[in-house]
Amino acid sequence: MEFKQGDRVRIEKDGTVYEGRVMPSTEGHIIIKMNSGYNAGFSVDKVKITLLEKNGEITNGDRNGKSQNGGKEDKAAEEEMPEPGKKLPKVTILSTGGTIASKIDYRTGAVTSQFTADDVLAAIPELKEIADFKGRVISSTLSENMDPETWQTLAHAAVEEIKAGADGIIITHGTDTMMYTAAALSFMIDTPVPIALVGSQRSADRPSSDNAMNMICAALVAISDIAEVSVVMHGTTSDDFCEIHRGTKVRKMHTSRRDAFKSINFLPIGVVDYNTGEIKTSIDYIRRGERSLKFKPGMEPKCALIKFTPGADPEILDYYINSGYRGLVLEGTGLGHVSTKWIPMIRKATDAKIPVIVTSQCLNGRICDRVYDTGRDMLKAGAIEGEDILPETALVKLMWVLGQTDEFDEAIEMLSEDLGGEITERTLK
Ligand code: ASP
Repeated sequence: MEFKQGDRVRIEKDGTVYEGRVMPSTEGHIIIKMNSGYNAGFSVDKVKITLLEKNGEITNGDRNGKSQNGGKEDKAAEEEMPEPGKKLPKVTILSTGGTIASKIDYRTGAVTSQFTADDVLAAIPELKEIADFKGRVISSTLSENMDPETWQTLAHAAVEEIKAGADGIIITHGTDTMMYTAAALSFMIDTPVPIALVGSQRSADRPSSDNAMNMICAALVAISDIAEVSVVMHGTTSDDFCEIHRGTKVRKMHTSRRDAFKSINFLPIGVVDYNTGEIKTSIDYIRRGERSLKFKPGMEPKCALIKFTPGADPEILDYYINSGYRGLVLEGTGLGHVSTKWIPMIRKATDAKIPVIVTSQCLNGRICDRVYDTGRDMLKAGAIEGEDILPETALVKLMWVLGQTDEFDEAIEMLSEDLGGEITERTLK
């Protein structure tokens, strides 16, 4: 007897019961969408399957089923199964909230963060075949509520887990501000093991949710030899591969698409093929064990990222200078410009030992303030060219640098150097 897509089934595995509708599955495997909205996948020969409802009729009976699909990826999927008794790598999931941990609250109609790492593990059983997981809750919040203090709590937890023997770390995180957290961790931790941030654009109870695929790809990165802080998210709108982005070079570039994350001014470190589990890298990266663990916490939150717009009042800068801000990032136009009216304020800031970094609203390309008079005058006023750094990364770097030193000259020197892959000599892409 065979099951078909759309049938409702009960699956028992290792004493746990899962119920849901059969999704498109390859031969020998069954994927169901559970009531929680999460997808769960199983090898049919390892579970007991009970048919509950077939094409709308309520049925009973036990059997092991076969899917109707071709099963081309079957071999690869089987190759990923651990040998019995084989020791799996240890991965810690640090959960912070976001859509990946959310479902619709039918009382309010809003998406809220409700799942912990343990819930995610229970809902995606394939994960248990990739690594030996441990879950730890850091926060349960949408990422718009993240702040530099929470970045440090998170970094501290990741370091503790690495010291305790974790072979890799996964951080489940809201997508909105994931790039800020990824940059913060990149500056704070020299990691000897992978630290993969992952999120989802659609909550688990939506049919098009990207949570399970992103999570599985992140798990594969966590056990790989890419010992960097990375963001692992859908590479296209299909369920074909995830991209692995360097934590200081990535940005959310779309409000809702599943492939919203892009590496800017750089190539992704590589891709994870969702069907085969294979990782292909495209640039040089820091390998597992290549460096020893170093933790450099400290963040100065009184820094601001200010977008220049035509006609904007220079008094805006004066506000920050007079309110105790310790560093400013300007998101200028084109090659990195602000109105000439702003230049005396840049001078005022740097005279007050407040570093000013210039980045571009273009995002793509490199700052060059040597071409036009405005740029040259900005440099004379003490502004630093941000090279090809992203504005958000520049802000996080500034916070971190000012959390490390009170010396203005040392801060300027650190801000001008590449510290975590945020400035590249040659812009790839
Ligand atoms: N606002 C949510 C967050 O960043 C969106 C998401 O997770 O995708 O937490």
